[in-house]
Amino acid sequence: MQKKSISSFAFVFSQFNCEMVMADSIINRFFAAKEKMPKQTSDFIKWLKKAAPSNIDDLIHELHDEVFDEVDCLDCANCCKTVGPAIKDIDIDRLSKHLKLKPSKLVELYMEIDEEQDYIFRTHPCPFLCDDNYCSVYESRPKACREYPHTDRRRVMQLINLHKRNIECCPAVFEVFERLRLKLKK
Ligand code: SF4
Ligand code: SF4
Repeated sequence: MQKKSISSFAFVFSQFNCEMVMADSIINRFFAAKEKMPKQTSDFIKWLKKAAPSNIDDLIHELHDEVFDEVDCLDCANCCKTVGPAIKDIDIDRLSKHLKLKPSKLVELYMEIDEEQDYIFRTHPCPFLCDDNYCSVYESRPKACREYPHTDRRRVMQLINLHKRNIECCPAVFEVFERLRLKLKK
């Protein structure tokens, strides 16, 4: 999850008709859509797996920047509400220092182990998500939270199955791949 304290986008547009802007926002469009993975999107991902252009990383990174100029994660927090990060030992150490808890106590209070033997938060929404969508441990959040939704990472095609899953959860990832589909006219 990427935090912006006050998005300049929201601020600039606050002078206009709020309802009109919200109805048209990337986040609202995503949640209004019945299907989070329309057939044309899954077909496009299939096509990408076979025929992604050689500059795919550059294309995705450009779209990542473009989309996150328009999306304020504080209006969404769907990742923190619905998918938990994989939590590594180094994350537990950082979080336990932040919360002034022993690592074993932190694990006992908030975590369990998933089938891949990673720690995950036991509850959703995340226990550290506040009502206003801020993360109460933001400076000490797990690495997986810092990297989410991964559309600015290199070697996009090695992560394509992860992106495919995230399309169904993250409005920004959906928008990145939708804009890519339109750009490549698929
Ligand atoms: S789901 Fe995506 S858009 Fe929503 S808060 Fe998470 S990273 Fe931001
Ligand atoms: S630790 Fe923070 S960023 Fe990570 S899932 Fe929880 S609320 Fe979201």
